[in-house]
Amino acid sequence: MGAGGAIGMFVTALVLWRHERRTRRLLSSVTDRLRASDERFQALVRDSSDIVCVIDAAGAVQYISPAAERILGHALTSLAGANVFEYVHPDDRQRVVDTFLANKGGMPVEPIEFRVLAADGTYRLMEAVGNNLLDNPKIGGLVINARDITERKRSEIELRDAQERFRSAFEHAAIGMALMSIDGRLFRVNRALVRMLGRAEDQLLGASLFALTHVGDREAVTDAVDRLLAGEVHSHRVEQRMLHVDDRMVWVSLSMSLVRDLSGKPLYVVSQIEDITERKASGARLAHLAIHDPLTGLPNRLLFVDRMRRALASADADHRVAVVFIDLDHFKVVNDSLGHPAGDRLLVAIADRLRATIRPSDTVARFGGDEFTVLCSDVPDELAAQALADRIASAVSRPITLAEGEVYVTASLGIALSESDLETPETLLRNADAAMYTAKEQGRARIEIFRRASHDRAVAHLRTGSELHRALQRNELEMHYQPIVNLETGRVTGFEALLRWRHPERGLVPPDDFIGLAEETGLVVPIGVFALESACQQLVQWHAHGAPVSCSVNLSPRQLVEPSLMGEFSDVLRRTGVDPDVVWLEITESTLMRDPQSAVTTLEALRALGVHLAVDDFGTGYSSMSYLKRFPVETLKVDRTFVDGLGRDPEDSAICTAIVSLAHALGLRAIAEGVETPEQLAELRTLGCEYAQGFLFGRPVPASNVDLRHATEAWAGVAGG
Ligand code: C2E
Ligand code: CA
Ligand code: CA
Repeated sequence: MGAGGAIGMFVTALVLWRHERRTRRLLSSVTDRLRASDERFQALVRDSSDIVCVIDAAGAVQYISPAAERILGHALTSLAGANVFEYVHPDDRQRVVDTFLANKGGMPVEPIEFRVLAADGTYRLMEAVGNNLLDNPKIGGLVINARDITERKRSEIELRDAQERFRSAFEHAAIGMALMSIDGRLFRVNRALVRMLGRAEDQLLGASLFALTHVGDREAVTDAVDRLLAGEVHSHRVEQRMLHVDDRMVWVSLSMSLVRDLSGKPLYVVSQIEDITERKASGARLAHLAIHDPLTGLPNRLLFVDRMRRALASADADHRVAVVFIDLDHFKVVNDSLGHPAGDRLLVAIADRLRATIRPSDTVARFGGDEFTVLCSDVPDELAAQALADRIASAVSRPITLAEGEVYVTASLGIALSESDLETPETLLRNADAAMYTAKEQGRARIEIFRRASHDRAVAHLRTGSELHRALQRNELEMHYQPIVNLETGRVTGFEALLRWRHPERGLVPPDDFIGLAEETGLVVPIGVFALESACQQLVQWHAHGAPVSCSVNLSPRQLVEPSLMGEFSDVLRRTGVDPDVVWLEITESTLMRDPQSAVTTLEALRALGVHLAVDDFGTGYSSMSYLKRFPVETLKVDRTFVDGLGRDPEDSAICTAIVSLAHALGLRAIAEGVETPEQLAELRTLGCEYAQGFLFGRPVPASNVDLRHATEAWAGVAGG
């Protein structure tokens, strides 16, 4: 109920009041009706939410309705006879008095607002109309009808504030804003939008959002507005292109929300329009960056793999996918000697050449560092792939001119061809990488094709590697012992300790099947310590049983260059308490000749531990006589291959003769390996060879099977001569 309502109420009250007076006078005889009317009046005034008050000329209350107590908190009894004007705020008082007293009878006047003191000390804002009926003999009072508008006023102010804030926010917003009618026409736009689209405000007002939207995005916008109007969504955000006045496109993020009236009827749409052109552009840049190498601009691994996946999806037996893995040789040298910027320019030059070498439908990518890959779909066979790799290799190896001068680089290439339609990019890449790795190993500047069989061998090799590691820890390694016989005395003077791997599935594995791998992996170092330690422990036992034998242990090349070798060996000797004088170490001739200079030093250090040294497999290693003289060795072991032909092959006989006499000339003794027949033994004896070892005397066996009888008792038919 507004001010009009208050007046209406007042009029009703007034009419009733007058009516009541009149009734009292005219119908005093009709007391029933009078009472009825009085009660009606009482009920109306009493229950009114407005304060109805009748005062005399001095302001003293003659009547005041119960609403006064409800609204202001003053007890009705305390108000009876009180001066109402004293409750009015001092600033408002005079105005109120003037207004009410000036108004003389007649019809209601404009309501006035003033503040009235409530019981709690606060002021309530009242809106009131007064009718001065003091002169009216029938009434004789000033009738005031007052309504509490404190809350209404407060929300009016708040609403005004909010509107002002919205208007200001709208106008000064950093992003574009527009109010749009239901049919999509703009009826209010802010400055940011004017700036964003380069169009004057009056050009925008009345324009349809649709017409300002790029053709390609119009459907989406219409759709969004429809959904808003249909009530499917409360607000909606789309990214779309709008048209700048000079024909360029502005990428915007458009958020629209629908404003409805109280009955739910759509009123208009509020749109926030944010310019995201920059973000879009950098987004596109980022997207490009994510799949390209920044230095060369070539696709990166991600994009390459994606292209591979697509190519593989349409590959078959006649249209295979080839991947070439390219790794520059010694690129680090370029970087280190010419500097990184030169290295970068070299990579860019290589990238350009690779690009020029391939067909447009193929892909060349930079995988990282100095690694590139080429993807070629639709390759008929290995030959075609090889031809492609040849072209790439020669493109790379042409001299490259940098500011620093001409640079020559080569590359190692690995090719892998898809084999089945089950091929994945990952395996194909791994295969090409493996082939490239082989090319590196084979001396670089080469092309290798990945082949399943050789790969399987390599994998088996690797598997053995990790198994061997476990073998050491799980005590799967053991030593076997093969007797060495003194041909003069016919007695076993010692044993050669030979390594065996008791594999849980493969059974007893001979050393030739795993020593090479142990070498490569470095495992041969701990294995060598194990071999020596086992042999020494065995020697100690044999000596305790009264067998005065020696034992020789094989050393591999890797062990010789191991810095910890001396320390570990002397530890073993000390730990086992063996007499080093019965310990022999065998080192092959080829090992010693790899680096004879440092071999001399190493052998001397070993000799200083008190052990003896033998040259193993002699005759196969092209010894230099001068070095042989300088090695502190005492024995040469004649390689089995020469012993093999003794008694049959004059050439082998000649070689054996030469080796044995060479040994003697150098003051060394000779041991013949691989003696299997009495004929071989007989010839060795005539050559004056001191010792023999071979199946004729005994195979390598575990220590528990070693027969020590001949350590003290001559072998029948061997001794003498
Ligand atoms: P190697 O040092 O030349 O050892 C002699 C090899 O000849 C042994 O093979 C032995 O069983 C075999 N042999 C001995 N007499 C005969 C014979 O009359 N006929 C034939 N056909 N063969 C005979 P094995 O035990 O298979 O060892 C092979 C190689 O493994 C050894 O050659 C040695 O180079 C290496 N090796 C063995 N044990 C160790 C070890 O503990 N450490 C190192 N680093 N290498 C070892
Ligand atoms: Ca040996
Ligand atoms: Ca040998």
